[in-house]
Amino acid sequence: MSPAPRTLFVLVDGLGLGASDPAVNPVHRGDCPILESLLAHHSVPVDAGMDLPGLPQSATGQTALMTGVNAAQAMGRHVEGFPGPALRDIVRAHNLYDQLAALGFRSTFANAYYTTDATEVRTRKIQSVTTVAALKAFGAVRDLNDLLAGRAVYQDLTRASLRERGYDGPLVTPEQSAADLLALAMDYDFTLFEYFQTDRMGHKGTPEDVRRVLALFDAFLAGAVRFGERSGCLFVMTSDHGNIEDSGSRQHSINPVPLVAIGQGADIVQARVRSITDITPALVALYRGNG
Ligand SMILES: [Zn+2]
Repeated sequence: MSPAPRTLFVLVDGLGLGASDPAVNPVHRGDCPILESLLAHHSVPVDAGMDLPGLPQSATGQTALMTGVNAAQAMGRHVEGFPGPALRDIVRAHNLYDQLAALGFRSTFANAYYTTDATEVRTRKIQSVTTVAALKAFGAVRDLNDLLAGRAVYQDLTRASLRERGYDGPLVTPEQSAADLLALAMDYDFTLFEYFQTDRMGHKGTPEDVRRVLALFDAFLAGAVRFGERSGCLFVMTSDHGNIEDSGSRQHSINPVPLVAIGQGADIVQARVRSITDITPALVALYRGNG
């Protein structure tokens, strides 16, 4: 039995383990050497299919990741995009944050929302799985004030996409976003950050967009992975389904997703996980001390 780690969990949407051929897989075109190295040396393959035919999708995949419930089986299909009432109920009842809180551990969701009234997010009709989980567990999300204080990270890693929404604060580098995230993560037992430009680019991006996003994410990762090198800390990165690693398709892929883990408990978590439904139970077991 070992003490529970402090964990930084990066949920990267739409990143599978694909072919090593750079003609097919943008991950191997030289734009993201840190990611390539993590996949080569610190990753195990994880099944995202949940024993159901068809392409895995975000609403069911993220629910599975965040709860340990086989959400696709519960729904009878892979559900795209954002969760409806049934999936929201699963997230509210079984989310990882509440499971850790029951063991006495404090969690947070690091993503910033572009609002100065974080409670307003509760009234939004469209909410991601990660939003539903954070609102259930914490009652609110991080807002513009947190972002400006360096106590949150915007999903694009630079805040540049906020300009068109009226943001006139400073832009940051992906390295600075990683530094902000690491500082925040030291104040909690478990910290989640979600990055979804990978999935967006896999659906809609030009080859140049894909290169730019992978390079940006890599600059962020260079800092973020260092969390796992700190004493008593664990860095985890995984995905809900494949997408960006197959340039031959605009849809999600059936490829396995990586489970990258570095630091305290990394081997234990990786040994326990075969499916995306195993990740929450493996983390909870680690915090319970029987990892
Ligand atoms: Zn997608």
